[in-house]
Amino acid sequence: MSRTFDIQLAGARELPAQDPELAVLLDQELDYETGVLAMVAHASVAPPSVLAAAGTVLSNVTAEGYPGRRYHPGAEWFDAVERLAVSRARAAFGARYANVQPHSCTAANLAVEFGLLAPGDTMLGLHLDAGGHLTHGASASVTGRAFRSVAYGLDDAGLIDYDRTAELAREQRPKLIIAGASAYPRRIDYERFRAIADEVGAYLLADISHIAGLVAAGVLPSPVDIAHVTTTSTYKQLGGPRGGLILMGAEHGTPGPDGRTPLSTLLDRAVFPLTQGTPNAAAIAAKARALDVVAAPEFKATARRIADDAAALAAALTERAWPVLTGGTDNHMVLLDVGRRGLTGAIAELALSECGILANRNRIPGDSRPPLVASGLRLGTNILAQRGMAPADMPACAALVTRVLDAVEPMSDTEYRLDPDVRKAVLEEVAELCRCFPIPGYPQATL
Ligand SMILES: *Cc1c(COP(=O)(O)O)cnc(C)c1O
Repeated sequence: MSRTFDIQLAGARELPAQDPELAVLLDQELDYETGVLAMVAHASVAPPSVLAAAGTVLSNVTAEGYPGRRYHPGAEWFDAVERLAVSRARAAFGARYANVQPHSCTAANLAVEFGLLAPGDTMLGLHLDAGGHLTHGASASVTGRAFRSVAYGLDDAGLIDYDRTAELAREQRPKLIIAGASAYPRRIDYERFRAIADEVGAYLLADISHIAGLVAAGVLPSPVDIAHVTTTSTYKQLGGPRGGLILMGAEHGTPGPDGRTPLSTLLDRAVFPLTQGTPNAAAIAAKARALDVVAAPEFKATARRIADDAAALAAALTERAWPVLTGGTDNHMVLLDVGRRGLTGAIAELALSECGILANRNRIPGDSRPPLVASGLRLGTNILAQRGMAPADMPACAALVTRVLDAVEPMSDTEYRLDPDVRKAVLEEVAELCRCFPIPGYPQATL
């Protein structure tokens, strides 16, 4: 065992006596994670070695700047770790440039936006209600306040309306166009977006926060050489620590808005000092570890299974008469219009949650309900696939979901009645499923 982990082991042994309150909470969280059927789209489980790498003595390193050019002494080993993370990020995504310092994908997007735009400049992103992300110019986000933000949307089939997006770009002349979504189950045509961006002289940012694993594995097409810049979270589908990445391929040397400074230099400065201070050295070590896992052949098999599971889940839910938006999925997520069946997203989420199943409320296109209520439910197969579940196991998962949803009697937007016998039966089946499909490297669910 690596010597640094002697410290973690000592800490792990001391913690229950030193801080029983916290130790108990951490164990409860572990029991919860192993025993819940997480069908969320926005998470994956980190392998044990990633969790170990996230908790090392690198947490003690404070060093602004980049490897070889820090503003603090004593960063020699952190330099090597960050270089390793950068080279693994480049390898995992076939990128020419990687910045591993963003604390999140939100931070990565802010860096790209503030690095490429001046306050008041126009940017064009997918509307929040159509599945876009807050950082793509939503009014509730600093990105909607600092910039003049214009939103594109979906067509009647629920697909990105590329023709209308192109028209909007011609009318509004954005300096940045963002392709990417938090709730969009279909493949994104990055070439089309790039053509739109080129026509109006905009930079194209591809935000693959949700689908980074499928992209790294080649299950979905990669935007890295098509967009000017690509951003992602490291925990949603990469099994990494909390954090983000900025990637560039063919365009890494392209000049920024000043016509001189290469995008690579510009984005390094945009992360530090423009929008962040010291990097999280421990998280960067964990990113290095996670990206090594991502490059391994087993990850490709898991990614393939994530997409196959999602397609099978969408089919099984459709068969059970629950309306799947766009009729299916190309990625890991399935969006249900629960409003059409008389429920709200909030009720669906709460009812499933008390039956040991996690899926989240989500607004859907044309949604008339506020975000905390919503008419949609977003499901995802990342963790099911990590647990080893195959497409053949999806009908059982869909049956558990619909057994709960079919039994729910709404009383208001957020209140409902659920037959206790249904809850009890589903909880038992969830427990059994979680026992049959343990999270690799994690203890068996204790129930
Ligand atoms: C989740 C998400 C983000 C933000 O990621 P964080 O790492 O949580 O800050 C950005 N963009 C998209 C498309 C997302 O889905």
